[in-house]
Amino acid sequence: MIVFPVMLITIASCSIVYFQMNSIQQSYDMETSTYQVLSNPIQILNRITRGVYNEIKLTTLKEPNLFENDNYIKALDEELKGKFSFVTVRKNKEFVYTGNAKELGLIRNSLPLFGVYNTDVDGGIYLGGKNPFLVKSQDFYFDDGGEGTIFVITNLNNLVPQIKTVAIQSLSVFVFTIILTAFVLMLWLYRGMLKPLNILRVATNQIKEGDLNHSVKAIANDEIGQLCEDFEEMRIRLKKLIDDRLQYEEDIKELVSNISHDLKTPLTAIKGYAEGLIDGVADTPEKQEKYLKTIFMKANDMSYLVDELSVFVRIDCETVPYSFKQISLKDYFDDCIEELEIELEVHNVEIHYKNETDKSIQIIADPEQLKRVINNIVSNSVKYMDKNKGIINIYISDLIDYVQIDIKDNGIGISKKDTPYIFDRFYRADASRSSKKGGSGLGLSIVKKIIEDHSGSMWVSSEEGEGTTISFTLKKK
Ligand code: ADP
Repeated sequence: MIVFPVMLITIASCSIVYFQMNSIQQSYDMETSTYQVLSNPIQILNRITRGVYNEIKLTTLKEPNLFENDNYIKALDEELKGKFSFVTVRKNKEFVYTGNAKELGLIRNSLPLFGVYNTDVDGGIYLGGKNPFLVKSQDFYFDDGGEGTIFVITNLNNLVPQIKTVAIQSLSVFVFTIILTAFVLMLWLYRGMLKPLNILRVATNQIKEGDLNHSVKAIANDEIGQLCEDFEEMRIRLKKLIDDRLQYEEDIKELVSNISHDLKTPLTAIKGYAEGLIDGVADTPEKQEKYLKTIFMKANDMSYLVDELSVFVRIDCETVPYSFKQISLKDYFDDCIEELEIELEVHNVEIHYKNETDKSIQIIADPEQLKRVINNIVSNSVKYMDKNKGIINIYISDLIDYVQIDIKDNGIGISKKDTPYIFDRFYRADASRSSKKGGSGLGLSIVKKIIEDHSGSMWVSSEEGEGTTISFTLKKK
């Protein structure tokens, strides 16, 4: 902002001065340096009459009477007019010719008397106050013996036009440069600051109105650009927060509707059987016992559902205090399978277990929650078993950083259309919904969340009528 205008003004001014000085030299046919012209313009005015003045001097010596010749003197005067000067001839104290009577009147009485002063080639007398004049005088005698003096008078109020042009053009360049600098500065300010600030202002207003869909793009790679990038990041996070919030509200609505539906079914049954007892519909002791057993079963279903729901809510809200421990994979699963074998005997289900991993492998897990996962998967295998001889295969393999556990059964399997959804909360395949077996549809969503909280993943592969394999991974220590 400083270097640019200073350079522009300097270059332009130097060019102007250079061209105008050339013009002075050509117009007045004189050799003069730029410095002289600028430092002492009076000297220039002095020099421009030099040629004519020399001629006058010669004439005073050779042919003084020519100064009484009107044609000669007028020609001289004409030549001097172009040089801001005029000529005046005095004979015996009388002015016999004057080129400019008005200007002469201003200095008439101050002009030197005959014999007092003769000017050198470059000399002159400076006369006048407000209206300064440079006077060159030469005394001589007319042929008739009369005392003559010729004056070449230059009006110093006139600057050489080229000097005027230098001044005007330099001033114009100065003003133009200031305007140009101001314009560039404003453009830079606008592009660099005002434009992005305006974009940010518009975006802020949109966000204020609740519209978070318009992205803000950084135009420059400076602080303002950084601000735009930060703003954009904030917008994206805010949008995600709001979307998550809306999704959460949607989920809660769905949850409440599912809970009320799932609780309503056993409640209606309980109400119906209780009414039957009160109204005396169950009139025999056998019937009464059957009614009471059904009420007890339905109450159990409700209690199971409420338990599952409370676990689900705690796990979903991440309020379950996991107690992660370093445990031996082999020891943990050996104990687990032993327990399961006893439990499954009652249901006529065989369990086969194969662990292909190294004995020394340690995993980081919460033993209690991991037990919940295995029990849930195994109890589903038992629940959805349609074969006379149920078989569950538990297979553990090594995946370098992880271990993979596959729990495979030969149960009813899951249809292709249901497989993608079985980990969704409250999702129950049609086949299991229509069966008499109880269930909440929450079990697999709970276990999947537990495995994810252990930094693992869970998936399913199933063949309808053949069986189901639920697989998950656990991170090694
Ligand atoms: P539920 O309480 O209904 O068992 P889950 O979340 O545990 O709920 O399971 C969701 C659905 O996945 C079940 O309703 C069932 O249809 C299906 N499913 C889960 N495990 C098996 C399995 N081993 N065999 C067949 N279907 C299964």
